[in-house]
Amino acid sequence: MSDKFDVVVIGGGPGGYVAAIRAAQLGLKTACIDKYINKNGKAVFGGTCLNVGCIPSKALLDTSHKFHDASEEYATHGIGIKKVDIDVPRMIERKDEVVEKLTMGVAGLFKSNGVTPLEGTGKLLAGKVVEFTDHDGNTKQLEAENIIIATGSVPVEIPPAPLKEDIIVDSTGALEFQSIPKRLGVIGAGVIGLELGSVWSRLGSEVVILEAQDDFLSVVDRQIAREAQKVLTKQGLDIRTGARVTGTDIKRKAVTVTYTDKDGDQEIVVDKLIVAVGRRPYTEGLLSVDSGVTMDERGFIYVNDQCATDVPGVYAIGDVVRGPMLAHKASEEGVMVAERIAGEKAQVNYDLVPSVIYTHPEIAWVGKTEDELKAAGEKYKAGFFPFSASGRALAANDTDGMVKIIADEETDRVLGCHIIGPNAADLCQQVLIAMEFGSTAEDLGLTMFPHPALCEAVHEAALAVNGHAIHKANRRRK
Ligand code: FAD
Ligand code: AMP
Repeated sequence: MSDKFDVVVIGGGPGGYVAAIRAAQLGLKTACIDKYINKNGKAVFGGTCLNVGCIPSKALLDTSHKFHDASEEYATHGIGIKKVDIDVPRMIERKDEVVEKLTMGVAGLFKSNGVTPLEGTGKLLAGKVVEFTDHDGNTKQLEAENIIIATGSVPVEIPPAPLKEDIIVDSTGALEFQSIPKRLGVIGAGVIGLELGSVWSRLGSEVVILEAQDDFLSVVDRQIAREAQKVLTKQGLDIRTGARVTGTDIKRKAVTVTYTDKDGDQEIVVDKLIVAVGRRPYTEGLLSVDSGVTMDERGFIYVNDQCATDVPGVYAIGDVVRGPMLAHKASEEGVMVAERIAGEKAQVNYDLVPSVIYTHPEIAWVGKTEDELKAAGEKYKAGFFPFSASGRALAANDTDGMVKIIADEETDRVLGCHIIGPNAADLCQQVLIAMEFGSTAEDLGLTMFPHPALCEAVHEAALAVNGHAIHKANRRRK
């Protein structure tokens, strides 16, 4: 086998593996290097997303949601279950089975598309050469016309809470608990902290989430964030904002967590502590000093809007570059770069990257918030519709939350969609598609939606933008 490739991808997560598949589809001779070894000692592709991120966290969220429904929700429907048990090791095992299926799937896709998988570490040298070291320490040099760096990110660690075995853990460790902690602390009320806190809270843990910022979910639309805080608190999550963790002390398997808030020094004692304070780009050992690739001040590989680095023919995508750390953003960048290498004119629309928090209800949004528009001095109008008025949500007894749609005051073009509610991710995507096609709120209002369906809330929110909602009183009338 020749060691010359059209494309060498370093990193096999949703950015890297998707880029590799698309490049191979376009007829480019492609290799993808990944160094990840899973907990069974097996080299697997799929990156953070498949192994310790999106997929395993959703597997646990889904199991814990079913458990919660069976223990607390079914009775409302008249369904009696004498005793509901949760077998935590089985829950973890099922999660691992899902992960295995998907990582094997990536291996299969590489095979069917003709991507050469290389298990080991990649290092970018000068002159578009990649040094590949396999897991036995054998090294060889790969020449590539084009190189795509997709090495992703790793959890941030903070000095007051160093990781300790299975007691103080990061998000990866929190996917492996073999029993339900009686008291669980979480540092950081971001996406990961809220999702993992929800998993264990639904199974019975007393969960305290400590968040340094005063505002809860500061990047989320204020109305949606307020509703989220209300609903999640009602579910039993003890969310303490303005609480900065200053230290931890482990004694007899319990962790004392000290933090400061507006009233001074405080402490809680928990059995397990999850540190979920964000992620940082992963570039350790990746670049030789003369590679020519530069970083920004926060350690992300510097790229332009087309993901090109400072070195012609070298690109970087996904969590290792600027922008939201999301699997779909990484994948879209992967496709764009592969297509541009093949001479096509691809582009990512960075204005329309959807975000989702997979709590229940889900929180999903895309486009501008009211605060952003106010700060930019732009005139807008907003319509919202509560799920408590949705026939389908009532039928399902799942009525928390609302849909909010924001449109330009003059042109009526949809500028943002913010949802907390059942299936918010899928509902928000309907509006995102409309936004991609430059839809107005009126266009959405003129579209027919099936009845009874949760998406009728999207329809009504769009109608409410111009005061035409049928199933609620309108703030503005026309
Ligand atoms: P990664 O997935 O991190 O993959 C990078 C790969 O490169 C890794 O396998 C790594 O081992 C390998 N690598 C690194 N350096 C080298 C090297 N020098 N040589 C060879 N290989 C190397 N995002 C969502 O969109 N939705 C979600 O629901 C979601 N949930 C999440 C839940 C959790 C708990 C976590 C931790 C993350 C979640 N994310 C979610 C974020 C998502 O996982 C990341 O945004 C995504 O995986 C980034 O993809 P990537 O390809 O850039 O990098
Ligand atoms: P995210 O970046 O979405 O994963 O969220 C991480 C969250 O952790 C942010 O909201 C931070 O404000 C929060 N955070 C970071 N450091 C601390 C700390 N020492 N104590 C409490 N919260 C923190």
